[in-house]
Amino acid sequence: MAKKKISSGKGSSPVKIHAEEARYLMNTYRRPPVVFTHGRGCRLYDSKGHEYLDLHISNLFHNPYQGPLARKLAEWSGLDRVFFTNSGAEAVDGALKIARAYAHGKSVDGRAPKTGILALENSFHGRTFGALSITHTPKYREPFAPLVPGVEFVRFNDVADLEAKFGEDVCALVIEPVQGEGGVFQVSQAFWQRARELATQHGAALIADEVQSGLGRTGRAFAYQKFGSLPDIATVAKPLGGGLPMGAILAGEPFASALTPGMHGSTFAGGPLISAVALEFLRVIEEKNLFENVRERGAELRAGIERLAERFDFIREVRGEGLIIGMDLAVEGAPFVEEALRRGLVINCTHDHVLRLLPPFIIGRRDVAEFLKKFEAVLAQAPKSAAGPFATAQKASVQPMALAAAR
Ligand code: PLP
Repeated sequence: MAKKKISSGKGSSPVKIHAEEARYLMNTYRRPPVVFTHGRGCRLYDSKGHEYLDLHISNLFHNPYQGPLARKLAEWSGLDRVFFTNSGAEAVDGALKIARAYAHGKSVDGRAPKTGILALENSFHGRTFGALSITHTPKYREPFAPLVPGVEFVRFNDVADLEAKFGEDVCALVIEPVQGEGGVFQVSQAFWQRARELATQHGAALIADEVQSGLGRTGRAFAYQKFGSLPDIATVAKPLGGGLPMGAILAGEPFASALTPGMHGSTFAGGPLISAVALEFLRVIEEKNLFENVRERGAELRAGIERLAERFDFIREVRGEGLIIGMDLAVEGAPFVEEALRRGLVINCTHDHVLRLLPPFIIGRRDVAEFLKKFEAVLAQAPKSAAGPFATAQKASVQPMALAAAR
């Protein structure tokens, strides 16, 4: 990661603002040269002090923060250009649109463009129609069928299945480098590498959905950085806006340039307030060296949970890296989540039997110790205080992930 100090954007000259946007943003808005710096009531004021009566401010104008933010995201990711969204699902939808647009641009001589999309079994990509179409879990999909056609699912980490399904018609392969909602499963080096090769060979987009795993969660800026090769497109969201709604699509130049003005857009995504907040988030991560904190606290948390797993044998497996940790239970997880809340711990359960921890990157050593102490009591207590659901879950014998076999 580059160590350059983050520019706040505030006070930048219009020339610098234009130059950074031209270099780091996808070319989706045709913006006039004026840069608005502030407003009052219906009035807007530009960097030269001129006053304007506002009848519709939006992303059709420059703002001082998008350029520096896009630049920082490009530096962190190794990708070239950025498009801002309001959520992770929107970023995923936009990434799919870029892959399709790229394929359209490549189809010549009246040939039909590639339209097929590959995603992974056990995936989660969001709730909009595009993102839902590449989300594997039936209960999320079925109430809304039919979804976007042309999607096929590949068995998790199964290279042979990937090779068999990566046909000539595929324009995109979407991978969560760490499946979060799916129960914290890491994509293998071999699977990623083959995915990269096949995507390149077929001129398809390798899309890394880093909405959950990205921006520091694993102790790296992006989870894919451990693989040694880049995706063509990456999506981020969750922590980016520091709790405000924001996402982004990052893409290498060939894919980014598939979008031209008017093809994609969003009225307020990446507006000045939220972009300033996101810049601050990235600055704090760098200045407080939070990647290191994520790695160190993550290791402490993991070691502590593994010690607990030796005592509580219904913890079948502990997975994850950095501050994304999953505990695969042989029993239902919900009673533990409830008991944890009673004891002042906010944790989460996914896929019925995986307890998942996604602590903030600033979590301290003492917080980790406190969690482990209280969580030990939760593990000891929850089955007794929630005997009904617990007993049912044991009888129903929640299936170990079929996926585990494929890891
Ligand atoms: N992609 C992944 C990997 C996610 O984990 C999520 C949300 O959990 C999304 C996309 C959707 O993000 P959002 O809820 O911001 O739309």
